[in-house]
Amino acid sequence: MEIEVNHLTELQNVAHQLLAFAGNEKIFIFEGDMGAGKTTFIKTFCKVLGIEETVSSPTYSIVNEYESPDGAVFHFDFYRIKDIQEAFDLGYEEYFFGGGICLIEWPEKVEELLPEHLVKIEISIVDESKRIFKFSRA
Ligand code: ATP
Ligand code: MG
Repeated sequence: MEIEVNHLTELQNVAHQLLAFAGNEKIFIFEGDMGAGKTTFIKTFCKVLGIEETVSSPTYSIVNEYESPDGAVFHFDFYRIKDIQEAFDLGYEEYFFGGGICLIEWPEKVEELLPEHLVKIEISIVDESKRIFKFSRA
């Protein structure tokens, strides 16, 4: 499924479409170049999930935890990990296989650890404000 996004105000609609597309899937991986809009979209997606606290990219850690009405939501940014061991040290299994929603930026860095079933969101930059969002399921 592909969606063209021409303005940030359209992201809320995209978030609702993603929720419908995902069904019961809990693992969401976000692919796209730096500045593609992964964090920007995750912020809107978290609002749609009912999260009221401020969502921002994990800076000092790899994972942020938020509370949604349906339980915990974990937001990962694996960009800075240098060794897969850092994911083991984090205890990734309890997150990825613990039943909570996981929103994962830079999943390429932990590819071999990802669950078999997940939803992939690919964001491509067309120009300054235009993006293509592509959803797929594995
Ligand atoms: P990084 O890999 O560094 O974490 P990122 O993919 O998380 O990057 P963001 O931090 O979300 O990217 O930055 C995306 C930038 O693009 C923001 O400044 C945002 O305002 C802008 N932007 C412009 N148009 C869009 C759009 N249609 N969708 C998402 N972001 C957009
Ligand atoms: Mg980001």
